[in-house]
Amino acid sequence: MTAHDVLNPATEEVLTHVELFDVEATDAAIARSVRAGQSWRSVSAADRAALLRRFSDVVADHQEELAQLEVRNAGHPVGNARWEAGNVRDVLQYYSGAPERHTGRTIPVAGGTAMTFPEPIGVVGVIVPWNFPMPIAGWAFAPALAAGNTVVLKPAELTPLTAMRLGELALEAGLPTDVLQVLPGAGNVVGQRFVTHPDVRKVVFTGSTAVGRSVMSGCAEQIKPVTLELGGKNANVVFADSDLDAAAAAAPMGAFDNSGQDCCARSRILVQDSVFDDFLARMEPAVRAVAVGDPASEDTDMGPLISAQQRSRVEGYLQDADILMTGSRPDGPGFWMAPTVVRARAASDLVFTEEIFGPVTAVLPFRDEEDAIRLANETAYGLSGSIWTRDIGRALRVARGVEAGNLSVNSHSSVRYSTPFGGFKQSGIGRELGPDALDAFTETKTVFIADN
Ligand code: NAD
Repeated sequence: MTAHDVLNPATEEVLTHVELFDVEATDAAIARSVRAGQSWRSVSAADRAALLRRFSDVVADHQEELAQLEVRNAGHPVGNARWEAGNVRDVLQYYSGAPERHTGRTIPVAGGTAMTFPEPIGVVGVIVPWNFPMPIAGWAFAPALAAGNTVVLKPAELTPLTAMRLGELALEAGLPTDVLQVLPGAGNVVGQRFVTHPDVRKVVFTGSTAVGRSVMSGCAEQIKPVTLELGGKNANVVFADSDLDAAAAAAPMGAFDNSGQDCCARSRILVQDSVFDDFLARMEPAVRAVAVGDPASEDTDMGPLISAQQRSRVEGYLQDADILMTGSRPDGPGFWMAPTVVRARAASDLVFTEEIFGPVTAVLPFRDEEDAIRLANETAYGLSGSIWTRDIGRALRVARGVEAGNLSVNSHSSVRYSTPFGGFKQSGIGRELGPDALDAFTETKTVFIADN
Protein backbone atom coordinates (compact mmCIF):
# COMPACT_ATOMS: atom_id res chain seq x y z
CA MET A 1 0.00 0.00 0.00
CA THR A 2 1.23 3.52 -0.76
CA ALA A 3 -0.08 6.87 0.54
CA HIS A 4 -1.70 9.29 -1.92
CA ASP A 5 -2.54 12.97 -1.37
CA VAL A 6 -6.16 13.95 -1.93
CA LEU A 7 -6.59 17.64 -2.82
CA ASN A 8 -9.36 20.20 -2.54
CA PRO A 9 -9.56 21.51 -6.13
CA ALA A 10 -11.01 24.85 -4.98
CA THR A 11 -8.01 25.62 -2.75
CA GLU A 12 -5.27 23.22 -3.96
CA GLU A 13 -4.80 22.22 -0.30
CA VAL A 14 -4.15 18.64 0.71
CA LEU A 15 -7.31 17.32 2.36
CA THR A 16 -6.01 13.98 3.51
CA HIS A 17 -3.87 11.00 2.53
CA VAL A 18 -5.38 7.77 1.33
CA GLU A 19 -3.68 4.38 1.28
CA LEU A 20 -3.79 2.94 -2.22
CA PHE A 21 -4.40 -0.77 -2.72
CA ASP A 22 -1.70 -2.71 -4.53
CA VAL A 23 -2.25 -5.93 -6.50
CA GLU A 24 -1.74 -8.14 -3.44
CA ALA A 25 -4.27 -6.20 -1.33
CA THR A 26 -6.68 -6.19 -4.27
CA ASP A 27 -6.42 -9.96 -4.64
CA ALA A 28 -7.07 -10.38 -0.91
CA ALA A 29 -10.17 -8.14 -1.16
CA ILE A 30 -11.45 -10.13 -4.15
CA ALA A 31 -10.96 -13.38 -2.19
CA ARG A 32 -12.99 -11.91 0.70
CA SER A 33 -15.65 -10.82 -1.78
CA VAL A 34 -15.92 -14.37 -3.12
CA ARG A 35 -16.35 -15.72 0.41
CA ALA A 36 -18.92 -13.07 1.35
CA GLY A 37 -20.85 -13.92 -1.81
CA GLN A 38 -21.39 -17.50 -0.72
CA SER A 39 -23.74 -16.37 2.04
CA TRP A 40 -24.99 -13.10 0.47
CA ARG A 41 -26.49 -14.89 -2.51
CA SER A 42 -28.60 -17.04 -0.19
CA VAL A 43 -29.93 -14.15 1.92
CA SER A 44 -33.66 -14.14 1.16
CA ALA A 45 -34.92 -11.55 -1.30
CA ALA A 46 -37.00 -9.92 1.45
CA ASP A 47 -34.00 -9.61 3.77
CA ARG A 48 -31.79 -8.25 0.99
CA ALA A 49 -34.49 -5.70 0.24
CA ALA A 50 -34.70 -4.70 3.91
CA LEU A 51 -30.92 -4.25 4.11
CA LEU A 52 -30.89 -2.02 1.02
CA ARG A 53 -33.76 0.05 2.46
CA ARG A 54 -31.75 0.46 5.65
CA PHE A 55 -28.65 1.41 3.64
CA SER A 56 -30.76 4.04 1.86
CA ASP A 57 -31.97 5.39 5.23
CA VAL A 58 -28.43 5.62 6.57
CA VAL A 59 -27.31 7.50 3.44
CA ALA A 60 -30.29 9.85 3.95
CA ASP A 61 -29.16 10.45 7.54
CA HIS A 62 -25.68 11.35 6.25
CA GLN A 63 -26.73 13.27 3.13
CA GLU A 64 -25.33 16.60 4.32
CA GLU A 65 -22.07 15.06 5.51
CA LEU A 66 -21.59 13.27 2.18
CA ALA A 67 -22.45 16.44 0.26
CA GLN A 68 -19.95 18.53 2.22
CA LEU A 69 -17.28 15.88 1.67
CA GLU A 70 -17.89 16.05 -2.08
CA VAL A 71 -17.75 19.85 -2.00
CA ARG A 72 -14.26 19.55 -0.54
CA ASN A 73 -12.98 16.62 -2.58
CA ALA A 74 -14.52 17.29 -6.02
CA GLY A 75 -15.29 21.03 -5.82
CA HIS A 76 -18.95 20.45 -6.66
CA PRO A 77 -21.31 23.28 -5.75
CA VAL A 78 -23.08 22.31 -2.56
CA GLY A 79 -26.52 22.20 -4.21
CA ASN A 80 -25.23 19.71 -6.77
CA ALA A 81 -23.46 17.68 -4.10
CA ARG A 82 -26.68 17.41 -2.07
CA TRP A 83 -28.48 16.17 -5.18
CA GLU A 84 -25.72 13.59 -5.74
CA ALA A 85 -25.89 12.20 -2.19
CA GLY A 86 -29.69 12.21 -2.48
CA ASN A 87 -29.37 10.28 -5.72
CA VAL A 88 -27.47 7.49 -3.94
CA ARG A 89 -30.24 7.38 -1.34
CA ASP A 90 -32.93 7.22 -4.05
CA VAL A 91 -31.15 4.64 -6.16
CA LEU A 92 -30.76 2.37 -3.13
CA GLN A 93 -34.41 2.90 -2.25
CA TYR A 94 -35.49 2.15 -5.84
CA TYR A 95 -33.46 -1.06 -6.07
CA SER A 96 -34.53 -2.19 -2.60
CA GLY A 97 -37.81 -2.91 -4.39
CA ALA A 98 -36.05 -5.13 -6.91
CA PRO A 99 -35.01 -8.36 -5.14
CA GLU A 100 -38.60 -9.40 -4.47
CA ARG A 101 -39.73 -8.48 -7.98
CA HIS A 102 -36.88 -9.95 -9.98
CA THR A 103 -38.52 -13.20 -10.89
CA GLY A 104 -37.90 -16.00 -13.36
CA ARG A 105 -40.50 -17.47 -15.71
CA THR A 106 -42.11 -20.78 -16.43
CA ILE A 107 -42.15 -21.60 -20.11
CA PRO A 108 -44.44 -24.20 -21.69
CA VAL A 109 -42.37 -27.00 -23.23
CA ALA A 110 -43.09 -30.58 -24.27
CA GLY A 111 -42.42 -33.36 -21.78
CA GLY A 112 -42.21 -31.30 -18.59
CA THR A 113 -41.77 -27.85 -17.20
CA ALA A 114 -39.05 -25.31 -17.91
CA MET A 115 -38.33 -22.48 -15.55
CA THR A 116 -35.76 -19.72 -15.42
CA PHE A 117 -33.86 -18.26 -12.48
CA PRO A 118 -32.00 -14.93 -12.51
CA GLU A 119 -28.77 -15.97 -10.76
CA PRO A 120 -26.20 -13.56 -9.34
CA ILE A 121 -23.03 -13.36 -11.43
CA GLY A 122 -20.62 -13.32 -8.47
CA VAL A 123 -18.06 -10.62 -7.71
CA VAL A 124 -18.72 -7.42 -9.68
CA GLY A 125 -15.81 -5.00 -10.15
CA VAL A 126 -16.92 -1.37 -10.42
CA ILE A 127 -14.53 1.30 -11.75
CA VAL A 128 -15.67 4.88 -11.14
CA PRO A 129 -14.41 8.19 -12.65
CA TRP A 130 -13.85 11.42 -10.74
CA ASN A 131 -16.60 13.55 -12.23
CA PHE A 132 -19.62 12.13 -10.32
CA PRO A 133 -18.04 9.96 -7.62
CA MET A 134 -21.23 9.22 -5.67
CA PRO A 135 -24.01 8.69 -8.22
CA ILE A 136 -21.91 6.59 -10.60
CA ALA A 137 -20.86 4.33 -7.72
CA GLY A 138 -24.49 3.94 -6.60
CA TRP A 139 -25.83 3.20 -10.10
CA ALA A 140 -23.64 0.10 -10.13
CA PHE A 141 -23.54 -1.12 -6.56
CA ALA A 142 -27.25 -0.76 -5.77
CA PRO A 143 -28.59 -3.06 -8.54
CA ALA A 144 -25.55 -5.36 -8.28
CA LEU A 145 -26.20 -5.93 -4.57
CA ALA A 146 -29.95 -6.20 -5.10
CA ALA A 147 -29.31 -9.03 -7.56
CA GLY A 148 -27.26 -10.95 -4.98
CA ASN A 149 -23.75 -10.09 -6.15
CA THR A 150 -20.89 -8.81 -4.06
CA VAL A 151 -19.06 -5.67 -5.15
CA VAL A 152 -15.47 -4.45 -5.17
CA LEU A 153 -15.44 -0.79 -6.12
CA LYS A 154 -12.50 1.36 -7.18
CA PRO A 155 -13.08 5.10 -6.95
CA ALA A 156 -10.98 7.50 -9.04
CA GLU A 157 -7.61 8.42 -7.56
CA LEU A 158 -8.62 12.10 -7.29
CA THR A 159 -11.99 11.56 -5.58
CA PRO A 160 -12.04 8.50 -3.31
CA LEU A 161 -13.52 10.05 -0.15
CA THR A 162 -17.29 9.80 -0.60
CA ALA A 163 -17.09 6.23 -1.94
CA MET A 164 -14.98 5.24 1.07
CA ARG A 165 -17.59 6.81 3.37
CA LEU A 166 -20.40 4.99 1.56
CA GLY A 167 -18.53 1.73 2.20
CA GLU A 168 -18.55 2.52 5.93
CA LEU A 169 -22.22 3.49 5.86
CA ALA A 170 -23.08 0.15 4.23
CA LEU A 171 -21.61 -1.62 7.26
CA GLU A 172 -23.42 0.75 9.61
CA ALA A 173 -26.67 -0.18 7.85
CA GLY A 174 -26.00 -3.84 8.55
CA LEU A 175 -24.77 -5.11 5.20
CA PRO A 176 -22.56 -8.11 5.91
CA THR A 177 -18.81 -7.49 5.95
CA ASP A 178 -17.11 -7.63 2.53
CA VAL A 179 -20.36 -7.56 0.53
CA LEU A 180 -19.44 -4.02 -0.61
CA GLN A 181 -15.74 -3.16 -0.44
CA VAL A 182 -14.22 0.12 -1.58
CA LEU A 183 -10.62 -0.17 -2.81
CA PRO A 184 -8.92 3.15 -3.48
CA GLY A 185 -6.13 2.63 -5.97
CA ALA A 186 -4.60 3.36 -9.33
CA GLY A 187 -6.51 2.50 -12.48
CA ASN A 188 -3.71 0.47 -13.96
CA VAL A 189 -3.30 -1.49 -10.71
CA VAL A 190 -6.67 -2.06 -9.00
CA GLY A 191 -8.90 -1.37 -12.02
CA GLN A 192 -6.73 -3.51 -14.24
CA ARG A 193 -6.81 -6.33 -11.67
CA PHE A 194 -10.63 -6.34 -11.84
CA VAL A 195 -10.21 -6.95 -15.55
CA THR A 196 -7.64 -9.75 -15.26
CA HIS A 197 -8.72 -11.52 -12.04
CA PRO A 198 -10.80 -14.60 -12.93
CA ASP A 199 -12.92 -14.32 -9.78
CA VAL A 200 -14.23 -10.90 -10.80
CA ARG A 201 -17.04 -12.05 -13.05
CA LYS A 202 -18.27 -8.72 -14.38
CA VAL A 203 -16.81 -5.24 -14.77
CA VAL A 204 -18.81 -2.03 -14.75
CA PHE A 205 -16.60 0.73 -16.08
CA THR A 206 -17.44 4.42 -16.31
CA GLY A 207 -14.78 6.69 -17.73
CA SER A 208 -13.06 7.67 -20.91
CA THR A 209 -13.64 5.86 -24.18
CA ALA A 210 -9.88 5.14 -24.48
CA VAL A 211 -9.66 3.31 -21.14
CA GLY A 212 -13.07 1.70 -21.73
CA ARG A 213 -11.76 0.20 -24.94
CA SER A 214 -8.79 -1.36 -23.11
CA VAL A 215 -11.07 -2.63 -20.31
CA MET A 216 -13.33 -4.25 -22.89
CA SER A 217 -10.48 -5.90 -24.76
CA GLY A 218 -8.96 -7.12 -21.48
CA CYS A 219 -12.29 -8.59 -20.40
CA ALA A 220 -12.58 -10.35 -23.76
CA GLU A 221 -9.71 -12.64 -22.69
CA GLN A 222 -12.05 -14.25 -20.14
CA ILE A 223 -15.33 -13.55 -21.98
CA LYS A 224 -16.12 -11.38 -18.98
CA PRO A 225 -19.26 -9.25 -19.39
CA VAL A 226 -18.83 -5.49 -19.23
CA THR A 227 -21.06 -2.50 -18.87
CA LEU A 228 -19.34 0.56 -20.29
CA GLU A 229 -20.46 4.16 -19.72
CA LEU A 230 -18.04 6.28 -21.72
CA GLY A 231 -17.62 9.73 -23.19
CA GLY A 232 -20.07 12.03 -24.89
CA LYS A 233 -20.17 15.00 -27.25
CA ASN A 234 -23.80 15.85 -26.94
CA ALA A 235 -25.77 18.16 -29.19
CA ASN A 236 -28.23 20.78 -28.01
CA VAL A 237 -30.35 21.39 -31.13
CA VAL A 238 -32.24 24.69 -31.10
CA PHE A 239 -34.92 25.22 -33.77
CA ALA A 240 -36.19 28.64 -34.82
CA ASP A 241 -39.69 27.69 -33.63
CA SER A 242 -38.57 27.06 -30.04
CA ASP A 243 -39.07 29.31 -27.05
CA LEU A 244 -35.77 31.06 -27.79
CA ASP A 245 -35.55 32.86 -24.47
CA ALA A 246 -35.96 29.59 -22.56
CA ALA A 247 -33.49 27.78 -24.83
CA ALA A 248 -30.92 30.56 -24.52
CA ALA A 249 -31.32 30.79 -20.75
CA ALA A 250 -30.87 27.04 -20.30
CA ALA A 251 -28.02 26.44 -22.78
CA PRO A 252 -25.11 27.64 -20.59
CA MET A 253 -25.79 25.34 -17.62
CA GLY A 254 -26.66 22.53 -20.05
CA ALA A 255 -23.00 22.75 -20.99
CA PHE A 256 -21.29 24.10 -17.86
CA ASP A 257 -22.93 22.13 -15.06
CA ASN A 258 -20.20 20.38 -13.04
CA SER A 259 -17.77 22.68 -14.88
CA GLY A 260 -18.57 20.80 -18.09
CA GLN A 261 -17.00 17.67 -16.61
CA ASP A 262 -20.12 15.75 -17.41
CA CYS A 263 -20.47 12.98 -19.97
CA CYS A 264 -23.92 14.47 -20.74
CA ALA A 265 -22.70 18.06 -21.13
CA ARG A 266 -24.31 19.73 -24.15
CA SER A 267 -20.93 20.73 -25.50
CA ARG A 268 -22.23 21.31 -29.05
CA ILE A 269 -24.98 23.85 -29.59
CA LEU A 270 -26.61 23.61 -33.02
CA VAL A 271 -28.79 26.60 -33.80
CA GLN A 272 -31.04 27.04 -36.84
CA ASP A 273 -29.36 29.61 -39.10
CA SER A 274 -32.35 31.98 -39.24
CA VAL A 275 -32.08 32.65 -35.47
CA PHE A 276 -28.35 32.02 -34.95
CA ASP A 277 -27.31 35.60 -34.12
CA ASP A 278 -30.48 36.28 -32.19
CA PHE A 279 -29.95 33.15 -30.07
CA LEU A 280 -26.32 34.06 -29.28
CA ALA A 281 -27.36 37.57 -28.25
CA ARG A 282 -29.96 36.12 -25.89
CA MET A 283 -27.51 33.53 -24.50
CA GLU A 284 -24.69 35.95 -23.70
CA PRO A 285 -26.22 37.41 -20.48
CA ALA A 286 -26.83 33.87 -19.21
CA VAL A 287 -23.18 32.94 -19.82
CA ARG A 288 -22.02 36.05 -17.97
CA ALA A 289 -24.44 35.28 -15.13
CA VAL A 290 -22.97 31.85 -14.35
CA ALA A 291 -21.71 32.22 -10.80
CA VAL A 292 -18.26 30.64 -10.68
CA GLY A 293 -16.70 30.42 -7.23
CA ASP A 294 -16.56 28.85 -3.80
CA PRO A 295 -18.40 25.53 -4.10
CA ALA A 296 -19.45 25.72 -0.47
CA SER A 297 -21.53 28.82 -1.20
CA GLU A 298 -25.24 28.24 -1.81
CA ASP A 299 -25.17 30.76 -4.69
CA THR A 300 -22.46 29.08 -6.73
CA ASP A 301 -23.39 27.56 -10.09
CA MET A 302 -19.98 26.31 -11.09
CA GLY A 303 -16.94 25.24 -9.08
CA PRO A 304 -13.35 24.61 -10.16
CA LEU A 305 -12.09 21.91 -12.49
CA ILE A 306 -10.88 18.76 -10.81
CA SER A 307 -7.13 19.26 -11.29
CA ALA A 308 -4.40 21.44 -12.77
CA GLN A 309 -3.84 18.78 -15.42
CA GLN A 310 -7.50 18.77 -16.44
CA ARG A 311 -7.55 22.56 -16.65
CA SER A 312 -4.50 22.74 -18.87
CA ARG A 313 -5.93 19.99 -21.10
CA VAL A 314 -9.16 21.98 -21.48
CA GLU A 315 -7.34 25.30 -22.00
CA GLY A 316 -5.36 23.63 -24.77
CA TYR A 317 -8.53 23.51 -26.89
CA LEU A 318 -8.86 27.30 -26.65
CA GLN A 319 -5.41 28.14 -28.07
CA ASP A 320 -6.63 28.34 -31.62
CA ALA A 321 -10.39 28.71 -31.06
CA ASP A 322 -12.76 31.51 -32.07
CA ILE A 323 -13.96 32.55 -28.63
CA LEU A 324 -17.40 34.19 -28.81
CA MET A 325 -18.09 34.86 -25.14
CA THR A 326 -16.82 34.02 -21.69
CA GLY A 327 -18.05 34.28 -18.13
CA SER A 328 -16.00 35.02 -15.04
CA ARG A 329 -13.61 33.06 -12.80
CA PRO A 330 -12.06 33.78 -9.42
CA ASP A 331 -8.36 34.58 -9.06
CA GLY A 332 -6.02 32.86 -6.63
CA PRO A 333 -5.56 29.21 -5.80
CA GLY A 334 -7.95 26.63 -7.21
CA PHE A 335 -8.29 25.10 -10.67
CA TRP A 336 -10.66 27.78 -12.00
CA MET A 337 -11.77 28.38 -15.53
CA ALA A 338 -14.33 30.76 -16.97
CA PRO A 339 -17.26 29.30 -18.89
CA THR A 340 -16.47 29.74 -22.57
CA VAL A 341 -18.48 29.62 -25.80
CA VAL A 342 -16.57 29.09 -29.04
CA ARG A 343 -17.67 29.22 -32.64
CA ALA A 344 -16.88 25.96 -34.44
CA ARG A 345 -15.47 26.70 -37.91
CA ALA A 346 -16.78 23.41 -39.26
CA ALA A 347 -18.16 20.11 -38.02
CA SER A 348 -14.62 18.74 -38.29
CA ASP A 349 -13.22 21.35 -35.86
CA LEU A 350 -11.62 19.70 -32.77
CA VAL A 351 -13.81 21.77 -30.43
CA PHE A 352 -16.79 20.21 -32.19
CA THR A 353 -15.57 16.60 -32.31
CA GLU A 354 -13.58 15.94 -29.12
CA GLU A 355 -14.95 15.52 -25.63
CA ILE A 356 -13.29 18.52 -23.97
CA PHE A 357 -14.67 17.73 -20.49
CA GLY A 358 -14.50 21.30 -19.26
CA PRO A 359 -16.60 24.50 -19.39
CA VAL A 360 -16.37 24.94 -23.14
CA THR A 361 -19.21 24.63 -25.61
CA ALA A 362 -19.08 25.05 -29.39
CA VAL A 363 -21.84 26.59 -31.52
CA LEU A 364 -22.59 25.92 -35.17
CA PRO A 365 -25.59 26.88 -37.35
CA PHE A 366 -27.73 24.37 -39.25
CA ARG A 367 -30.20 24.76 -42.13
CA ASP A 368 -33.13 22.45 -41.51
CA GLU A 369 -34.24 19.34 -39.66
CA GLU A 370 -32.28 16.97 -41.86
CA ASP A 371 -29.12 19.04 -41.50
CA ALA A 372 -29.58 19.18 -37.72
CA ILE A 373 -29.83 15.40 -37.43
CA ARG A 374 -26.82 14.92 -39.73
CA LEU A 375 -24.67 17.29 -37.65
CA ALA A 376 -25.87 15.88 -34.32
CA ASN A 377 -24.82 12.42 -35.51
CA GLU A 378 -21.46 13.54 -36.87
CA THR A 379 -19.62 12.21 -33.83
CA ALA A 380 -18.21 8.92 -32.63
CA TYR A 381 -20.25 9.33 -29.44
CA GLY A 382 -23.95 8.88 -28.74
CA LEU A 383 -24.80 9.49 -25.11
CA SER A 384 -27.36 12.27 -24.78
CA GLY A 385 -28.68 15.47 -26.29
CA SER A 386 -31.48 18.02 -26.32
CA ILE A 387 -34.00 19.31 -28.83
CA TRP A 388 -35.69 22.70 -28.44
CA THR A 389 -38.81 23.19 -30.53
CA ARG A 390 -42.53 23.89 -30.08
CA ASP A 391 -43.42 21.36 -32.80
CA ILE A 392 -44.07 18.03 -31.11
CA GLY A 393 -43.85 16.07 -34.36
CA ARG A 394 -40.46 17.57 -35.10
CA ALA A 395 -39.32 16.89 -31.53
CA LEU A 396 -40.13 13.21 -31.95
CA ARG A 397 -38.68 12.94 -35.46
CA VAL A 398 -35.40 14.50 -34.37
CA ALA A 399 -35.30 12.49 -31.13
CA ARG A 400 -35.73 9.30 -33.15
CA GLY A 401 -33.13 10.45 -35.68
CA VAL A 402 -30.36 11.30 -33.25
CA GLU A 403 -28.20 8.27 -32.42
CA ALA A 404 -27.96 8.71 -28.66
CA GLY A 405 -29.24 6.91 -25.58
CA ASN A 406 -30.84 9.79 -23.67
CA LEU A 407 -32.62 12.69 -25.32
CA SER A 408 -34.50 15.52 -23.75
CA VAL A 409 -37.03 17.86 -25.36
CA ASN A 410 -37.11 21.47 -24.12
CA SER A 411 -34.87 20.62 -21.17
CA HIS A 412 -31.37 19.34 -20.52
CA SER A 413 -32.10 16.57 -18.07
CA SER A 414 -30.60 13.16 -18.80
CA VAL A 415 -30.71 11.11 -15.65
CA ARG A 416 -33.58 9.67 -13.68
CA TYR A 417 -33.03 6.61 -11.51
CA SER A 418 -36.23 5.04 -12.87
CA THR A 419 -35.29 5.25 -16.57
CA PRO A 420 -32.49 3.52 -18.49
CA PHE A 421 -29.25 5.44 -19.00
CA GLY A 422 -26.41 4.68 -21.39
CA GLY A 423 -24.87 5.34 -24.75
CA PHE A 424 -24.99 4.43 -28.42
CA LYS A 425 -21.82 4.04 -30.53
CA GLN A 426 -18.58 4.78 -28.65
CA SER A 427 -20.44 6.13 -25.62
CA GLY A 428 -20.75 2.64 -24.27
CA ILE A 429 -22.42 -0.70 -24.00
CA GLY A 430 -25.36 -1.63 -21.80
CA ARG A 431 -27.75 0.45 -19.75
CA GLU A 432 -27.73 1.43 -16.10
CA LEU A 433 -30.67 2.49 -13.92
CA GLY A 434 -34.34 1.93 -14.72
CA PRO A 435 -36.46 -1.17 -14.24
CA ASP A 436 -34.19 -3.57 -16.15
CA ALA A 437 -30.83 -2.85 -14.51
CA LEU A 438 -30.78 -6.16 -12.63
CA ASP A 439 -30.64 -8.02 -15.94
CA ALA A 440 -27.10 -6.69 -16.34
CA PHE A 441 -26.15 -8.23 -12.99
CA THR A 442 -27.64 -11.70 -13.37
CA GLU A 443 -27.19 -14.76 -15.51
CA THR A 444 -30.37 -16.49 -16.65
CA LYS A 445 -30.45 -20.16 -15.73
CA THR A 446 -32.99 -22.49 -17.34
CA VAL A 447 -34.06 -25.64 -15.48
CA PHE A 448 -36.16 -28.31 -17.15
CA ILE A 449 -38.09 -30.87 -15.07
CA ALA A 450 -39.36 -33.91 -16.92
CA ASP A 451 -42.92 -34.79 -15.96
CA ASN A 452 -42.64 -38.54 -16.31
P1 NAD B 1 -10.60 7.59 -17.00
O1 NAD B 1 -10.99 6.67 -18.08
O2 NAD B 1 -9.24 8.16 -17.03
O3 NAD B 1 -10.71 6.87 -15.58
C1 NAD B 1 -11.91 6.28 -15.15
C2 NAD B 1 -11.58 5.24 -14.11
O4 NAD B 1 -10.83 4.19 -14.72
C3 NAD B 1 -10.72 5.75 -12.95
O5 NAD B 1 -11.15 5.13 -11.75
C4 NAD B 1 -9.34 5.25 -13.33
O6 NAD B 1 -8.49 5.06 -12.22
C5 NAD B 1 -9.65 3.93 -13.98
N1 NAD B 1 -8.62 3.44 -14.90
C6 NAD B 1 -7.66 4.15 -15.52
N2 NAD B 1 -6.86 3.32 -16.24
C7 NAD B 1 -7.34 2.07 -16.07
C8 NAD B 1 -6.98 0.79 -16.58
N3 NAD B 1 -5.92 0.64 -17.39
N4 NAD B 1 -7.72 -0.28 -16.23
C9 NAD B 1 -8.78 -0.14 -15.43
N5 NAD B 1 -9.18 1.04 -14.90
C10 NAD B 1 -8.47 2.15 -15.23
O7 NAD B 1 -11.73 8.69 -16.97
P2 NAD B 1 -11.83 9.96 -16.04
O8 NAD B 1 -10.90 10.98 -16.61
O9 NAD B 1 -11.71 9.59 -14.60
O10 NAD B 1 -13.36 10.37 -16.27
C11 NAD B 1 -13.75 11.15 -17.32
C12 NAD B 1 -14.39 10.30 -18.40
O11 NAD B 1 -15.49 9.56 -17.90
C13 NAD B 1 -14.99 11.14 -19.51
O12 NAD B 1 -14.63 10.62 -20.77
C14 NAD B 1 -16.49 11.02 -19.30
O13 NAD B 1 -17.26 11.24 -20.42
C15 NAD B 1 -16.61 9.66 -18.78
N6 NAD B 1 -17.90 9.48 -18.07
C16 NAD B 1 -18.90 8.77 -18.66
C17 NAD B 1 -20.11 8.63 -18.02
C18 NAD B 1 -21.25 7.86 -18.63
O14 NAD B 1 -22.13 7.50 -17.89
N7 NAD B 1 -21.25 7.57 -19.91
C19 NAD B 1 -20.30 9.20 -16.78
C20 NAD B 1 -19.27 9.92 -16.22
C21 NAD B 1 -18.06 10.04 -16.88
